[in-house]
Amino acid sequence: MEIEKNLKNITRRIPEHVALVAVSKTKPNSDIMEAYNAGQRVFGENYVQEMVEKHEQLPRDIRWHFIGHLQSNKVKYIAPFVCLIHGVDSLKLLKEIDKQAKKNDRVIKCLFQMHIAEEETKFGLSENELEDILNFLRNDDNEMANIKITGLMGMATFTDDEKQIKKEFQYLKSVFDKYKQLQASNLKLETLSMGMSGDYQLAIDCGSTMVRIGSSIFGTRKAPKAN
Ligand SMILES: *Cc1c(COP(=O)(O)O)cnc(C)c1O
Repeated sequence: MEIEKNLKNITRRIPEHVALVAVSKTKPNSDIMEAYNAGQRVFGENYVQEMVEKHEQLPRDIRWHFIGHLQSNKVKYIAPFVCLIHGVDSLKLLKEIDKQAKKNDRVIKCLFQMHIAEEETKFGLSENELEDILNFLRNDDNEMANIKITGLMGMATFTDDEKQIKKEFQYLKSVFDKYKQLQASNLKLETLSMGMSGDYQLAIDCGSTMVRIGSSIFGTRKAPKAN
């Protein structure tokens, strides 16, 4: 009941053009089913094995988003079913996703993860690295036909300083706006994935079109397991 109530509270607060990814990492299937029965269909996970198991056990019409750091050698496990991969931050990874998508006769949607936080530990591309990859996508003849870049994703610094977070979200939005007119057959930036439980209102104010919310729906998590 709690989960259904939380979900309703959040969907009431986010405008219609903003998509909600319910982040269910570390949470049991029963929790996911509670959200599912309340109408939620998009769920986010950040451990490959956990997402594969949940996909096998839960309803087929769930759309699974991979939101964690993805290692190239694990792409093959999620390629048969993943709906959107949020954390792409290298050409090497993108090529592997394309290869595995092709094997499964699918086109896999991806977001490029941008480094916007001050912390060293957060993954993501710099603007220069993004530009290099975008140029590659636009110019390369051997274009990758089994991926589609549909947007950008970022995580703000873990801080209470709203000004800092806002600055980072505004920066990501400016990068998004700068490159969104670039298009190729496998490139069209439409989705801006930013905002989590603590900062999604701010993210939406700054132009987010997709929020990834975990603890505000499912309650706090235990310490994350090592990946
Ligand atoms: C865990 C996680 C979230 C959700 O975090 P909450 O603070 O629980 O809402 C969002 N995005 C990513 C990438 C995550 O790993």
